[in-house]
Amino acid sequence: MSERGDKLRRQAAEQDGEAETLEKQARYHRDTARAQRKSATQADLEENARIPVDRSAVTLTDGRPVDPNHRDLKPNGQQQGYVVLSDEERAKGFVRPVRESYKHLTCGAVTTMGRALAETYARDPAFYSGTFCATCQKHFPVGDDGEFVWAGTEIKVGT
Ligand SMILES: [Zn+2]
Repeated sequence: MSERGDKLRRQAAEQDGEAETLEKQARYHRDTARAQRKSATQADLEENARIPVDRSAVTLTDGRPVDPNHRDLKPNGQQQGYVVLSDEERAKGFVRPVRESYKHLTCGAVTTMGRALAETYARDPAFYSGTFCATCQKHFPVGDDGEFVWAGTEIKVGT
């Protein structure tokens, strides 16, 4: 081995050490940024919770006015229509993340709902007393004692 070669190998090892230190620092800063973004989202949700919900500002999911027969059931067990908070009311701000899929704890199946329903839950988590399981083809209760959690979480739907 040459003297010049040894010197260059030592320098290379120093470069590797420096790179490792900088990579550790970069990981630390990325982790910090991720935590700050999560806190920022939480702060926004908490701020939105101060805006009172107007539960009289409602439509059906397709934007039509609520008609008295909307609760009649279709052959698949779903209602003819579902009440949601109006576009304007939902635009006032969410107090929970918008989540579109939930799991029925009784049968284990996941059901996905439309955007307006998901946003209504996000604006006013206690708006509904029950929801539909597409596998059981029936409605069951939500809330603390309800039968549903948001998919991929342990969080009860309606809380
Ligand atoms: Zn079910």
